[in-house]
Amino acid sequence: MSVTQQQVLDSLGRIKSPRGVALTNANVLSAISASDGKVFFSINVEAAEARAWEPVRAEAEAAVRAIPGVTTVMVALTAERKPGSAPPPSRGAPGVQPAHAHKPPQGGTSPMSRQSEIPGIAAVIAVASGKGGVGKSTTALNLALGLRDLGLKVGLLDADIYGPSMPRLTGLRDKPELNAERKMIPLKRFGLAIMSIGFLVEEETAMIWRGPMVMSAVTQMLRDVEWGTLDVLVVDMPPGTGDAQLTLAQNVPLKGAVIISTPQDLSLIDARRGLAMFRKVNVPVLGIVENMSYFQCPHCGTRSDIFGHGGARHEAEKLGVPFLGEIPLHMAIRATSDAGNPLVDSQPDGPHAAIYRAIAGQVRDQLKSVIAAV
Ligand code: ADP
Repeated sequence: MSVTQQQVLDSLGRIKSPRGVALTNANVLSAISASDGKVFFSINVEAAEARAWEPVRAEAEAAVRAIPGVTTVMVALTAERKPGSAPPPSRGAPGVQPAHAHKPPQGGTSPMSRQSEIPGIAAVIAVASGKGGVGKSTTALNLALGLRDLGLKVGLLDADIYGPSMPRLTGLRDKPELNAERKMIPLKRFGLAIMSIGFLVEEETAMIWRGPMVMSAVTQMLRDVEWGTLDVLVVDMPPGTGDAQLTLAQNVPLKGAVIISTPQDLSLIDARRGLAMFRKVNVPVLGIVENMSYFQCPHCGTRSDIFGHGGARHEAEKLGVPFLGEIPLHMAIRATSDAGNPLVDSQPDGPHAAIYRAIAGQVRDQLKSVIAAV
C-alpha cells in the first residue's frame, strides 16, 4: 500500500505546535518525501525554539509511523538562525540532538577530545576541497575503496548536502531502512557502508537546504546510522570554506582531513583556505592530493601538463603538509565514476587504482595509532 503526501499532511494536521496552531499551519514543514512507504521530511524552526519543538518532532514521527503502509519514517528537526543573530550554537541547535550534546571546541584542545566519538568508529576523516568540481567526491570514493583494499573496514558518508553525488558515483538509489532502534541502516556496496542525503531526499530538495540545516542533517547521518564497527569513516564534505563547512569541521569528530586540489592557482588558493579552516579548528591535515594533475591520453598514454602540473606538491611543501599524490585527468576515471563503477573497484589492476591505493596507504599510516585502537 503506498502512502501519499496528503495522508502524511492529514496526520500532521492533528498535531499542535508549541504555540498551539496545527503543525501544518505553523510554516515549518519542508517538502514531504513519501514513496514506497518511506517518509522523510524536516521541521525547520529557529534555534532558540528547538528544545520546545523536540516533543513535536517525536509526536510527528510517531503519528506518521502509525499510518498504515508506512515502513520507514525520519523526521529531522532543523534549526535556522535569523539573519543578523548570533552564530548557530555548536552542532546545530540546543535540543536538536540532546542525546549527543557535547561542548563546542575550545582553542588549543586536542581534536581527539573535543567531540563525542562515534562508538565503533576508530577514525572519521574528511575529504574536502575549497571549491566544487575538482573531483572531491570521486577521490573520496576511490580513497575509501583504496582503504578497503588495505584490509580496513570502511564507511563513506556523503555530507555534500548541496549536491550529493554518491547516488550517481555508486549507482545506489534505494532508501535506507530503519533498524529496531530507529537508526538508519547504511546501504552496502563495494564492501563499503554508504550513507548520503541523496538517498533520503530528491536532488532538488537537497540543493535548497540552508546553512544551519546542514549540520543537523549531517549529525543525523553521522550519529543516527547503524555504522557498525569501522576502522575509517570517510566524510565527503560540502565544497568550500563557508560557515556550513566550518561548522562541520568543528563539530564532526575528525581525526584528519584530506584536501583535494587541481593544479591551477585559483584552486590552490581555495585549497589554502581549506587548510586554514581545518587548522583553525585543530583538525590535522593529513595531506593534499593533486587531482586532474596532468592529462593522460586514453589512446596513447602520452602525458600533457595542461594545467601546469605540480602546483599542489609545491604548495604542500610550502605549507608544511604531506603531499599525498597526483591523480591524472583520465577518461577511465570520469567514465567509471559517472557510470557508478568506481575505478578502484572496477579496474583494480590498472595504474590509476594503484595511485589511489598509494594515497590510501599514506592516509592509513597517519591514522595507524587510532585505527589499531579499535
Ligand atoms: P566534486 O566532488 O569536487 O564536485 P566530482 O568528484 O563530482 O567533483 O567530479 C567532477 C567531475 O570530474 C565528474 O564528472 C568526475 O567523473 C570527473 N573527474 C574527477 N576526477 C577526475 C579525474 N582524475 N580524471 C577525469 N575525470 C575526473
